[in-house]
Amino acid sequence: MSYRSPCAACEFHGRRCYENCIFAPYFPSTDPERFESVNRIYGARTVGTMLQQTPVHLREDTVETMLFEARARIEDPIYGSVGIISRMQHEIVVARYKIAVMQQQIAYYKAKEDEASIFTDHEQDSLDLEFDDEIPEISSEDDKSEDKKE
Ligand SMILES: [Zn+2]
Repeated sequence: MSYRSPCAACEFHGRRCYENCIFAPYFPSTDPERFESVNRIYGARTVGTMLQQTPVHLREDTVETMLFEARARIEDPIYGSVGIISRMQHEIVVARYKIAVMQQQIAYYKAKEDEASIFTDHEQDSLDLEFDDEIPEISSEDDKSEDKKE
């Protein structure tokens, strides 16, 4: 069996990293934090077992998920990733409230705008009516003036 420079897991355990090392593709020695985090929360044995039980094409996602949860647990030992979910759910509630308030404001200003345009239309109608009403008067005055001229 050939081996190479150890991956982060094998380096951590001070052992040779063989070509078929299950950790090697996901825990390069160049990024030791990845293995340190999952090892601290799950333990290397559990991580190894989970990788063995997972189809090869899903192992990368498995490692990324464990890493995400491990980092969240290290940062927030009480709530872990649930703390992140709770914060995001709260942000969604706040954002939905803000959207509802903005929609109300938009509806309010839209209603005011419609009201203003109705008033303007009405004003325009009344002006038209006044104008229509004045036409006979003007014509009658014109008639009168014409009468005076004659
Ligand atoms: Zn290894």
